[in-house]
Amino acid sequence: MKQIQTVTGPIEPSELGTTLMHEHLMIGWPGWEAEAPADRAARREYTKRCVDRMLELRDLGLATFLDPCPIDLGRDVELMAEVAQATRVRIVCATGLYKEDQGAPAYFKFRAQFGDGVKEMTDVFIRELTEGVGETGIRAGVIKVATSAHKITPYEEMVLRAAAHAHRETGVPITTHTDEGTMGVEQLDILTGEGVAPHAIIVGHSDGSSDLHYHLSMLDRGAYLGFDRFGLELLHPDRERHAALMGLLGLDFERQIVLSHDTVWCWRGRPPILPPEMMPDWQPTHVFRKVIPRLRAAGVSQEKITTMLVENPRRYFAESGVVRA
Ligand SMILES: [Zn+2]
Repeated sequence: MKQIQTVTGPIEPSELGTTLMHEHLMIGWPGWEAEAPADRAARREYTKRCVDRMLELRDLGLATFLDPCPIDLGRDVELMAEVAQATRVRIVCATGLYKEDQGAPAYFKFRAQFGDGVKEMTDVFIRELTEGVGETGIRAGVIKVATSAHKITPYEEMVLRAAAHAHRETGVPITTHTDEGTMGVEQLDILTGEGVAPHAIIVGHSDGSSDLHYHLSMLDRGAYLGFDRFGLELLHPDRERHAALMGLLGLDFERQIVLSHDTVWCWRGRPPILPPEMMPDWQPTHVFRKVIPRLRAAGVSQEKITTMLVENPRRYFAESGVVRA
């Protein structure tokens, strides 16, 4: 793939720079519309919060930001475009659908009763990748899929197959959500079985597991692993993330790992009650302020760190859809 679609227009992969590969400006669980008036009232405050945070990240060297919010999780690509314009940090948005139990599967499950559900999903993904999201003209630059903990439901399998078909048509890479550090291998089975090259896939939230065997079984196939929930202690201890990451870097797998936090900056509807002291490090600056210094102190070279933050995102986009010799 030659160009990357950002919410403010296409760029060359060489322009990406330091990139966080999995963060969210805004998330809304399906049903948030029940509180839509409050959402409208808070809109200006959302924009300001996102701009302030993005400027803080820009000062730390961030150039590009992937927000892989799927269609059904309150995605707002116009907010993304406003924030990108105001901060000159590029944002890449996604097409794709979330896992069955927390997404909005009703529409395509209904459609699938009468016809080819995979084909209909594929059409939507391709339209968002080539023409734009809704009426905005803003094109998605990555395809998002998601699976449940310890299982892939038939609906989720449809989403995976549709993502693979949309990838084959457009060359745009795929990024995934996994739960509890499970089903990454099965995601790869389905996607590569549909003809997607492993180097066009990031198995997201792979740091939800510290199982070396699990990580190696995906790395050996050539996929990228997302160590993309740094600071999210509620789901997995950060010290295990660090230990697993350092072990894999010791084995020279830095070319297949990307770093991020999966932070959520604004919640549509009412925000969840998360006392800040519960997860003080779940901040989009955590990788820059604490994770990297810790890696350096453990003897990880600056070259390996740059590979994860700059080189891997570039290669992931540049070589997606390209058959490697
Ligand atoms: Zn996420």
